[in-house]
Amino acid sequence: MKILLVTGEALPFCKSGGLADFIFSFGKALVKENQQVSVILPFYQTIREKHPEIMHGYYDSFDFYMNWRQQGCGVFKHTVNGVDYYFLAMDEWFNRPNLYGYDDDIARFAAFMMAVNTFITRHNVFDVVHCNDWQTAVLPLLLRYNPNPIKTVLTIHNPAYQGYARREDLSKYFNLHTDYFDSGLVRMGDCFNFLKTGIMTADKISTVSRTHCQELLHDHESFGGIGAIIDWCRHNDFVGIVNGLDTDLWNPQTDKHLYQNYSVDNYVEGKKANKVALLNSLGMSCDFKGPLYSAITRLSSQKGVERLIQCMPQLKAADARLIVIGTGEMEDNFLYNSLQYPEVYFIKRYDENLAHILYAASDYFLMPSYFEPCGTSQLISMRYGTVPIVSNVGGLNDTVKDLSRGEEATGFVFNNKDYFGFINCFYASASYFYNPGLKREIINGMNGDYGWHLSAKEYLNLYNSITWK
Ligand code: ADP
Repeated sequence: MKILLVTGEALPFCKSGGLADFIFSFGKALVKENQQVSVILPFYQTIREKHPEIMHGYYDSFDFYMNWRQQGCGVFKHTVNGVDYYFLAMDEWFNRPNLYGYDDDIARFAAFMMAVNTFITRHNVFDVVHCNDWQTAVLPLLLRYNPNPIKTVLTIHNPAYQGYARREDLSKYFNLHTDYFDSGLVRMGDCFNFLKTGIMTADKISTVSRTHCQELLHDHESFGGIGAIIDWCRHNDFVGIVNGLDTDLWNPQTDKHLYQNYSVDNYVEGKKANKVALLNSLGMSCDFKGPLYSAITRLSSQKGVERLIQCMPQLKAADARLIVIGTGEMEDNFLYNSLQYPEVYFIKRYDENLAHILYAASDYFLMPSYFEPCGTSQLISMRYGTVPIVSNVGGLNDTVKDLSRGEEATGFVFNNKDYFGFINCFYASASYFYNPGLKREIINGMNGDYGWHLSAKEYLNLYNSITWK
C-alpha cells in the first residue's frame, strides 16, 4: 500500500511534542511491514537551517489558488529509514522561527492543506492519506473532490486543539462555497472547526489509546463537545490504537546522549552514573537520600502543572529533588514557584539532549496529566528504568500498571478525579523509595514491549477495513 502521512511536525526534522515522535516511529514501523510510506510537512525555517541537505532534493513546484490569491509551492524530497519525506516550501507561511503559535495559523495550515491536496492530485500515487490533528483535518473533505478516490484516515492526537476558523474562510482559503457552513460537516458553534470537519469526512478516525477512545465517546462535554459528535455520527468508524515508541531512538543501552549506557542487568550503576554526572553538570549537590523526581513536558494546563507545583513543598521532608525541563504558556508561573524551593531545579527551554539524560538519571517521572490521549514520556521513562507516577487517564491508563497489580506493576497510577489522588500518590512514592525500594517496577518497566509492531498492524487493518474502494 502507498501511504501518505500528513503532519504539522515530524522527527528527525522538527518537534513540538509527541506527534513528531509518532510520525517518525510509525513511518518506520510501516516500512518494516513492507508498505511504501511518505510523509508530507511544511518546510519550516528551523528545518532549512538544521538540514540544509534537504535543499538539494528539489522534487516539484506548482501554483494553486486560495480564492483570488495565487500561491507558489516548492517541494523538496529527502528519504530517511526508507520513508520519503516531502517538504512544502511556502516562505510566506512557514519561513518563521516557530512551528505554531501565530495569529494566522488558520491561514498557514489552510495553505498547507491546499498545497498537499494539489500535490496529491498531481502525483496521484497514494492509496491512503492519513491526516493528523487539526492542522491537516480539512484534507479529507478536499479529497472528496479528487478525481481518483483515495482512502482517508484522521488520527486525533490531541482533541484540545481544533482549529477554529470563520464561515468566510471556507471560500477565502479552501475555495468551498460558504453554504458548506450549515451542511453539518464543518460547523461547531459559530465556527468552521477544522477537527470536526475531519471527523465528519474522513473514512475512518482514530485516537491514540483505547482509554482515550472511550473517554471521547462517553464524555460529551470536554473539548467543546467534540466527543459527542464522534459518538453520535462516527461511533462505528472510530478506534483507539495505542502509540508505540521508537525503541531504537530510546534505548538506554545505545543512547549517545547518556554519560553511561546501561541495560536491565546493570541499571543500578548505570542510572547512578548518569544521576551524579547530571547533578554535577547542573551544579546541584548529590547529597540527598530520597528520590530524584523529574518531568519533561509542555507546561500547558493539560499536563497537571498545578500538581507539579503542589508537590514542591513536600520535597524537603522526603529529602528528594525535582528537576523539570519544560516550556509553554505556564512557564513563568512555574518558574516563580520553583524559585521558592531549593530542592527544585527548573530548566526553561526545549532541550532534547538533556531530556535523554534526565530520563536516565531520575528515579521517578511525574506525569499527572488531566488528560493524555496517549503520552510518550511515560513509555520512555519506563524504558529507562524511571518509575512513572501518572493519572489514570488516556494512554497513561493503558500503558502504566499500578502497584496494586502486584508482580506486573510498572508504576503508580492515581485517580484523576480524586482531589488528593496525586499528593497521596506522591507521599506513597517517597516512602516506597525507602521501603521496600524500587526494583520490581524498574525491571518490569525496562522489560516492557513498547514497540510499534502490533499497533502498525492495527493501522493496516484499519486502512484495509475501508471497503468502498
Ligand atoms: P505531548 O505530545 O502532549 O507534548 P507526549 O508525552 O506525547 O506529550 O510527548 C512529549 C515529547 O516531547 C516527549 O518525547 C518529551 O520528552 C518531549 N519534550 C517535551 N518537552 C520537552 C522539552 N522541554 N525538552 C525536551 N523534550 C521535551
